[in-house]
Amino acid sequence: MMAVETNYFAVEESETRVWQPTDELAQAVALEVLLHGPLGRSELARRLDLAPATLTRISTELINTGLLVDAPHATRRGAGRPSIPLDVVADAHHFLGVKLSGEQIAGAITDLRADVIDYREEPLDSRDPTAVTSQIVRVSRRAAAAYPIDAVGIGLGGVVDSDGNVSSAPFLQWTDVPIATLVEAELGIPTFAANDLAAFTEAQHWFGAGTGHANFATLTLGVGVGFGCVANGKLLANADSGVGLVGHWPLDPLGPLCKRGHRGCAEAMLTVPAIERDVSTALGRDVQWEEVLDLAVAGEPAATRILDASGRALGALIAAVANLTAPDLVLVGGEGVGLAAVASDAVAHGVRENRDPRAAPVRVELVSGDNESWCRGAAVIAIQGFVRNRSGRALQP
Ligand SMILES: [Zn+2]
Repeated sequence: MMAVETNYFAVEESETRVWQPTDELAQAVALEVLLHGPLGRSELARRLDLAPATLTRISTELINTGLLVDAPHATRRGAGRPSIPLDVVADAHHFLGVKLSGEQIAGAITDLRADVIDYREEPLDSRDPTAVTSQIVRVSRRAAAAYPIDAVGIGLGGVVDSDGNVSSAPFLQWTDVPIATLVEAELGIPTFAANDLAAFTEAQHWFGAGTGHANFATLTLGVGVGFGCVANGKLLANADSGVGLVGHWPLDPLGPLCKRGHRGCAEAMLTVPAIERDVSTALGRDVQWEEVLDLAVAGEPAATRILDASGRALGALIAAVANLTAPDLVLVGGEGVGLAAVASDAVAHGVRENRDPRAAPVRVELVSGDNESWCRGAAVIAIQGFVRNRSGRALQP
């Protein structure tokens, strides 16, 4: 325990670990390299519409302050005259992404590009906010003993404002808990919190399958159904984000009932517990998710019928998202993402049934749905807070 404390305070003393470009242009250059680098100078000048002399001045300054480096051996992205690419030193900074559920706390340490270096999970001691704060602090100190952590991000299912205050989180039974402030006060490391789906979508936006797309949507399947949307390069969000408003979207007029009495809504058709329940009822025994998928792959009739109906419902939801939000692509993730793989024909059928044949086909990509990817999302919230210098020292991009 002593060693942990010592290392932790050593981290706190190194106050120079900030991302601090001197002006908006420098911030734009640094962010472009972070998100899309390594990038050649001519490509970078083209992307940001900068005169070569201006870029030279800015890149020299960013290299002198240690934010960027020349990466002569890196594979350059994009076209343009050959030049030595610029890159960030991704492993010069570390972040902890924490995902809270009602039962578990999971944490991933990442580098500046959200690549996961270490991942751990443990049961939640208690849902009491004070106890959860202590547990997050304990997990963070353990992480900080192994890697100097620049910022902590916390993701959870619920409504979370931009200051990291949780106004409601049903799985944790929380109302009005300023979790980011509570953790930061004890830990002394910048701490951010966000709705877990927003965090997951931001991770896809900055470092995942959504990179380079100004318009895309995410759907996640698990204990609930989540929807996130990036439009014109920004996550769509308001005070109701996190309520889970797509969770009861009507999908199948002949489907089973959800707890609120809707027939064939997203919760009844697409969530892991609902599908497990329906297959268990049909087979007269308790069947867990992995077995549900195995049975469907093996052609067991009841599992196949239920997953086909769910697959078509998922297709209907993907088509609705595409019809309403005009995304370049729809990413499907979450721990129940196996549905989209196993019932892919039914999903495609459901999309076709609900989309005008004149419209372009919907590009759908399946992304990782495990706990680690949710933690990575929380880490991206920390990374965004860090590079936007949310402690007030510098600029918002
Ligand atoms: Zn419902």
